[in-house]
Amino acid sequence: MSKTLLLAALVVALFAHPVSAQDADTVLVNGKIVTVDAKESVVEAIAIRDGRIVATGTSPAMRKLAGPGARTIDLQGRTVVPGLIDSHLHAIRAALSFSTEVNWIGAKSIEEALGRIRKAAQTKPPGSWLIVAGGWNEQQFAEKRRPTQAELEAAAPDNPVYVQLGYGWAVLTDDGLRALKLSADADVPNGGRLERDASGKPTGAVSGPQAAIIALFDRLPRPTYAQQVEGTRAFFREMNRLGLTGAMDPGGNNLTPADYAAVQEVWRRGEMTVRIAYSLNGQTSGKEFDDYQSLLALVPMGFGDGMLRFVGLGERLTEAMNNNPRPSDADKEKYFEIARWAAQRGYGLTMHWGPDATVDHLLTLFERVNREIPIAPLRWSIAHLNDASPKTLERMHALGVGWTVQDAMYFGGEAFVKQAGPDAARRVPPVVSGDKIGVHIGGGTDAHRVASYNPFTSLQWFLDGKTVSGLAMRGPEETPTRQQALRFYTKGSAWFSHDDDTRGSLEPGKLADLAVLSKDYLTVPVGKIGDIESVLTMVGGKIVYAAGVFTSLENARR
Ligand SMILES: [Zn+2]
Repeated sequence: MSKTLLLAALVVALFAHPVSAQDADTVLVNGKIVTVDAKESVVEAIAIRDGRIVATGTSPAMRKLAGPGARTIDLQGRTVVPGLIDSHLHAIRAALSFSTEVNWIGAKSIEEALGRIRKAAQTKPPGSWLIVAGGWNEQQFAEKRRPTQAELEAAAPDNPVYVQLGYGWAVLTDDGLRALKLSADADVPNGGRLERDASGKPTGAVSGPQAAIIALFDRLPRPTYAQQVEGTRAFFREMNRLGLTGAMDPGGNNLTPADYAAVQEVWRRGEMTVRIAYSLNGQTSGKEFDDYQSLLALVPMGFGDGMLRFVGLGERLTEAMNNNPRPSDADKEKYFEIARWAAQRGYGLTMHWGPDATVDHLLTLFERVNREIPIAPLRWSIAHLNDASPKTLERMHALGVGWTVQDAMYFGGEAFVKQAGPDAARRVPPVVSGDKIGVHIGGGTDAHRVASYNPFTSLQWFLDGKTVSGLAMRGPEETPTRQQALRFYTKGSAWFSHDDDTRGSLEPGKLADLAVLSKDYLTVPVGKIGDIESVLTMVGGKIVYAAGVFTSLENARR
């Protein structure tokens, strides 16, 4: 036998045994694994190799696939779901300030919220800002009201405090008002005003249009670059704690190209624990097309990798069409030019839109582009559109335009019912109709200014249609099943970044992105779904978060 042949035989022997191509390096057994495959199968065990799923099935069958030295994790009956994906989460922006802002997400009373301010005041130097930048609503508090300036003063006597509610209201302590030089209505930017009590004395609160609150927020000190990087890592870990392994980031207000440096650094260091697919917002009002052409000249569609990928334009393309129910012909023409340019270059596009009554402006432009360049392969989408009519859903389906749906009504339901009536509210948002028509639907939140980023809050809301204060508004005809809602939040969301063939369900060949849950999503009372957390989160087979009985696994070497 020649040397070469001998060598070849040796190589074959080495690789054929004992490690075969099918040998798993990680096996999860004795669980309830909700695969989100086409048959909605639930299996007992899953085998993983090199970050991908090799097989799913019974525990004995999966154990047989374990190679030498494989890690076997006994799930002890726990439920596993595909890693959750939020299809509209301002993750990059939320991450920048996650380590420096005070978070009121999930606080059940003003007292609990103020406690978080008090705690932050103890750890931060006197004089440094304490900022709550949204993500809460007075309906979540037992007191059903907003905090007062006096309460904030008492909680943090030595720090300026700024508390923002959505994009319409904020309250500051006296130190805060002084620091931002707000003493008269004229000091408030973009048409905002100081609120006054019955005697005409300012209350410390500021209200106004979205532009006023955004400009006000921009006057606050920015986190340092080091804080932004730290915040980004911490926010991604927080997402992992809630079973999230992916998000579509749609740009957003107060976010400039320079603000992407922190996430890029985390990516460069190989420290991403959430897969981010991001799109670019129109930047300079009136000059958006110029911006896109120069900023994107070197960024083709899909540029990046599995952890950080560029996926197109949005959530707004032009300032003129942003939340504008009556755009002029010139506004629309400008928008059309950009959208056509995006289609020519194969870019994705996501556009947020409010009421169904005016969405014809947008759909007509999409249809016009579609006559020149078919847009279905580009997987464009509309976000929000909570009262989408059947006709709108049909038009979206015909275009192949998807729909990212958020739990805006969790905070905003009462206001919607007041404005549109309880009958209209029964079908808001009509996800069962949309799914039946065949519109691609992704789950999500639109966090963190206007909503909580907690996916289980959103999943519970999909299933019970109840606002944060408990008002049941959606009817059974538009209430999805648990499996359906989970599909929106996994495979459904993965569709928008062209990732539904690589993640979003637990099937052989797909990435091992998954979460082991603290409670059984399929059987726990619906009202308890919001309390679920992950106890073990994997991204590409790697453990990125572990808690409880699994804590020791997180940093253990295999
Ligand atoms: Zn948004």
